[in-house]
Amino acid sequence: MIVGFDTTVFPRLDYKDPEKFWGTISYLQDFFSVHRDRLHTVFEKAQEMKRCFDHFDPFIQSYTAKICPYCGTVCCANKFGFPEFADIVSFLSLGLSIPDYDLDVDEEAICQFIGKKGCILPRIQRPYRCTWYFCDPLMVQIDIGPAKQYRKFIQDVQDLSRTRGDLMREFFPIWEEHGNLIE
Ligand code: SF4
Ligand code: SF4
Repeated sequence: MIVGFDTTVFPRLDYKDPEKFWGTISYLQDFFSVHRDRLHTVFEKAQEMKRCFDHFDPFIQSYTAKICPYCGTVCCANKFGFPEFADIVSFLSLGLSIPDYDLDVDEEAICQFIGKKGCILPRIQRPYRCTWYFCDPLMVQIDIGPAKQYRKFIQDVQDLSRTRGDLMREFFPIWEEHGNLIE
């Protein structure tokens, strides 16, 4: 069973409103700095989530490296490369820097983070939806591969969802009590 977290409880991070977008990120950075002592469990959960990312990345990378170069409908558009609030929470929980998003781009155009060999961001610094998206060709390849690898895939996906959910479950009550001043 996949145990995630409903991230719609957090404020919407709107890339179409640059002032609010960067204002919210700045507020969250301050929040992490001011409430550092309260957030130690959040930091622990973030490290558990990171271990899952580290485990999952080589596996999924081995598939995308094979199929993405031949893809006729590349899924990476700018609108998918922008983070949601929960992504920023997980980046800050891991002490990662916030990517320097250029908001002045065509949201339908190929994502600003696409390089010659695919996404230039480490998987853990991408929006979660980028890792969570499994297109049909990708699923077919995983499906027709060895059963052991398929089982590993399912396990990794569940672990990732659970550990990210755990992080958000730890963070949310602290945010509700001490933050949450953003509409
Ligand atoms: S993940 Fe799927 S849709 Fe996206 S570029 Fe790769 S093959 Fe294409
Ligand atoms: S995987 Fe990377 S290039 Fe693709 S949409 Fe996400 S951030 Fe952009």
